Amino acid sequence: MTIQTVSGTIDKEQLGRTYIHEHLNIDLSGPKKDSDANLDNIDSIVEEIEYLKSIGVDSIVEVTNIGMGRNISKLEEVWKKTKMNIVASTGYYKEPFYPVEVYDLDYSELAKIMISEINKGIKYTETKAHVIGEVGTSKDTITHAELKVLKAAAFTHRETGHPIFTHTSLGTMALEQLELFKKEKVNISKVLIGHLDLNCDKEYHLRIADCGCYLGFDTIGKTKYEKDENRIKYIKYLIERGHIDQIVLSQDMTRKSHLKKGGGIGYSYLMEKFIPKAISMGISKEEIEHIMIENPKRLLDV
Ligand SMILES: [Zn+2]
Repeated sequence: MTIQTVSGTIDKEQLGRTYIHEHLNIDLSGPKKDSDANLDNIDSIVEEIEYLKSIGVDSIVEVTNIGMGRNISKLEEVWKKTKMNIVASTGYYKEPFYPVEVYDLDYSELAKIMISEINKGIKYTETKAHVIGEVGTSKDTITHAELKVLKAAAFTHRETGHPIFTHTSLGTMALEQLELFKKEKVNISKVLIGHLDLNCDKEYHLRIADCGCYLGFDTIGKTKYEKDENRIKYIKYLIERGHIDQIVLSQDMTRKSHLKKGGGIGYSYLMEKFIPKAISMGISKEEIEHIMIENPKRLLDV
């Protein structure tokens, strides 16, 4: 089957090595009251993505959605200049980042917007969203509005078969998200629970993996929350327990200061620093390739 990207549909075999949860243009600076949270440095981003492509990354899933400063024309510009495949997303993030329609509309009306962005295209562009995400929950709680958005995401998934990518706040509420999706008859093998590497816990990871979803080790390099050595240990543990098919990787870059020019680690960190470290700690090259190529392909296929 095909994958919808900003450059039109591509065959799933063209995905290649994939970063599963990234932002190439995102603005959360209003609610965060921090101008660093407006990632809009297009020239630096193009430069980094061009380099990322040259070292073997073929695709990026861009999970910025409605209310997060999503800007499809910027994504098109990055694709045109770099030829990196970019998969776009629909949905609403979490409180307090919702646009007003989340409060005004009911879940089926919100789902209608998401379904239209998948089937017809994102307003004023020819790009069709492929991923329902990132849809999220707050730390240790799911608010009333977040519950409505998760229900709308489930409805959209039932109608379209497209995958749902979630955001957890520091890894919390993952099992509750899965419980809700099960109740809403979502195919759990099309769900990626995000940010489970911010708060690593073996037993918690196993309980989540036993549900059959994907586990996002998608904040790699954010060592203020968790050391990368630990991320690697927890990935190894999941592999040993038979869950290699459920692991996906990314960095979740969201800030100017994450870019190389802003003094940060840059988009190439995963490829150039994390993977060599993982290999030196005993994860095989074949396992890494499986995680970076086969798992995204299976998850994104609809
Ligand atoms: Zn997130």
